[in-house]
Amino acid sequence: MDAGLNYGPTRKVWSEFMVSHGFNAGDITGIYITHYHPDHYGAAGWLQKLSGAPVYMSVVEASMTEKIWRQGTQNLDILVRMYLENGVPDGLVTKMLENVNDMRSMVAPQPEITPLSDGEEVRLGDLYYRVVSTPGHSDGHVCFYCEENGVLLSGDHLLPHITSNISLWPQSHPNPLDNFLTSLAENHRLRVSLALPAHGECFSNVEQRLTELEDHHRERLNTMKRIASRGATAYQVCMEVFGNGLSLHETRFALTETMAHLVYLQKRGELRVDRENGAYKYSL
Ligand SMILES: [Zn+2]
Repeated sequence: MDAGLNYGPTRKVWSEFMVSHGFNAGDITGIYITHYHPDHYGAAGWLQKLSGAPVYMSVVEASMTEKIWRQGTQNLDILVRMYLENGVPDGLVTKMLENVNDMRSMVAPQPEITPLSDGEEVRLGDLYYRVVSTPGHSDGHVCFYCEENGVLLSGDHLLPHITSNISLWPQSHPNPLDNFLTSLAENHRLRVSLALPAHGECFSNVEQRLTELEDHHRERLNTMKRIASRGATAYQVCMEVFGNGLSLHETRFALTETMAHLVYLQKRGELRVDRENGAYKYSL
């Protein structure tokens, strides 16, 4: 399952885990990755080198690794434009880019990827799990669901305490929040007895969690619509909702999360967007 960032602490955890469970890297038969984000995919190439095992990912996520991690730094120019067009002050854009760049060294080397299809059955240990496509947190995010015992390996799609970050990126789907809400609606049909998330502890109140997440986004949409109705850039809405006590890393994700909500509202005809002095301004 997900490999983690490729840096010292992760490699140490993997080594200790193998020792404590009495196996070697060569015994690993498959590396399954839920999505392309650095804290999940970063060490996949390192683990593949060590084990020789195939790295499995959805086709969409494999293409994201191509755009984001394999094509040098050309996607950084696209990010700069995105930040400026959404009202981020110049000085902050420079700092945000440094923050992005710091991450790149922890997402190497790149593995050879074997594609996974939605609905495919994969064997993990003694049980079979179905690949469940859950776009939203990333375009091709997948969970793994075991019909037999109701266990869902939920990756970053369903987390117990925090809501998964739903971000609009220049190279991602144009309406990720719509994707996420559709995924949640479909998840109500699964009979999950236990979710094993990528962050935090396992939880069994999955139905309740799905409803909480839906309510959270509905409320967030209302708040952002109210603020944007006075006329604001995504950065201004973000600052009003999240305040300026966030770290640089958190600010980056708060901004793209705000953009995902504003674009969702705009596509539903609830907000309009105009370009003013090189930046997008939302209004009623
Ligand atoms: Zn993630």
